[in-house]
Amino acid sequence: METTKTLTRGEELRRTLAYTRKNGYDRLTAAELTELEDYCTGYKQFLNLCKIERECVEQSVALAQAAGFRPYARGMALQPGDKIYSVNRGKSVIFAVMGQEGLEQGVNIGAAHIDSPRLDLKQNPLYESDELSFLKTHYYGGLRKYQWVTIPLELHGAVALKDGRTISVAIGSDPADPLFTIDDLLPHLGAEQSKKPLGEAIPGETLNLLVGSRPLSDDEGSDRVKLAVLEILYRQYGIREEDFLSAELCAVPAFAARDIGLDRSLIGAYGHDDRVCAYAALKALLELGTPRRTAVCVLADREEVGSDGVTGIKSGAFDAFFADLCQGQGVPLRAMYEKSFCLSADVTAAYDPNFADVYEKRNSALVNYGISVSKYGGGRGKSGASEASAELVAYVRRVLDEAGVVWQMAEMGKVDAGGGGTVAMDVAQRNIDTIDAGVPVLSMHAPYETVGKLDCYETYRAMKAVYEA
Ligand code: MN
Ligand code: MN
Repeated sequence: METTKTLTRGEELRRTLAYTRKNGYDRLTAAELTELEDYCTGYKQFLNLCKIERECVEQSVALAQAAGFRPYARGMALQPGDKIYSVNRGKSVIFAVMGQEGLEQGVNIGAAHIDSPRLDLKQNPLYESDELSFLKTHYYGGLRKYQWVTIPLELHGAVALKDGRTISVAIGSDPADPLFTIDDLLPHLGAEQSKKPLGEAIPGETLNLLVGSRPLSDDEGSDRVKLAVLEILYRQYGIREEDFLSAELCAVPAFAARDIGLDRSLIGAYGHDDRVCAYAALKALLELGTPRRTAVCVLADREEVGSDGVTGIKSGAFDAFFADLCQGQGVPLRAMYEKSFCLSADVTAAYDPNFADVYEKRNSALVNYGISVSKYGGGRGKSGASEASAELVAYVRRVLDEAGVVWQMAEMGKVDAGGGGTVAMDVAQRNIDTIDAGVPVLSMHAPYETVGKLDCYETYRAMKAVYEA
């Protein structure tokens, strides 16, 4: 039994006027903790099947089809409650649940990205050097090169052939498969390398994937190891060396999503950025009934390289999808956009006590404090980002608080420590009110990133609240 005692004036003011953040674990009920665990189990399964954006699209569509979604075709008649999706070139996808209200009332969008930093193969990748065979890579997205050597890597992607067929590749996803790696110097011979700044110690052109060492027998050429690799590729995939020209193959970390910590409160995995928000945005949409406003989940490609390109969120494919929906209701696209709301769901840097000097703790996202909302992103005086208005932040406060979501307000790092962008500004440029929010991540962009389970679950609950608003 709690005893009632008279509060001092200070305690009273602290309670009524001051704002203090609370650890989410002090707020969740036992039932919510069970649901959190179930949600994270589903998320880990999703992650293990999704190492590249193509796989994310396939898995998302499979989940959506199981939930009654069907492919949208231009001109299709739609009713409130209809569930549709539209895939853009196999690499990005938009899902929608048609609302009770017309599109002139705007839509609620949850936008996340499904591409993650990785090492792409170059178009002429295969070579042999001193009887070892390698594949040359060109890194994709902002990564710290020293983190990508001496770890197990898988090879995922597609090889498009001249005859129109596309061969899917996922070497390493089966435990019986071989893996790949990039070698590094041993400490015994690394004295000079160790003197270099971290960013220069591993040059981009040394990120070469080791793929073979066994020479072709009965041959004297200087490319015997390479030829043996080519023979395996042809036997197993029907691929010739020339086919690399029209391939997109990505070396990605071979780490499965696993619980981290004795208390199992965290998840370690490759690609939390931004599949942790993508899964939340998708799962919440798949569980919707018929919302008041049409609810839309956008899973975009190419965010890690600035969202440019035909499958990035800057692409006209985004506008074409909404224009087609609007045409079906005789609503001008611009009228829909100006009434719409978008939660740009993307991860942010979690405050890391091991690197406290790049953070300003009062305004940093803390692990287990829930989904982190950011009024603005960017760097060097808020440049290169959009900023949500005070009124929009107030709207989001209301939506999240009414749904009981555990959330926090933060920005990435201390002033002038760096910065980062999301799809928010590209959506906002369409005249759509947009705000950033997402899961705080430790070791963001590393081959193995860590997130708090509570924050994953609260991001899903936030997405639900946004769609239902
Ligand atoms: Mn991201
Ligand atoms: Mn990123």
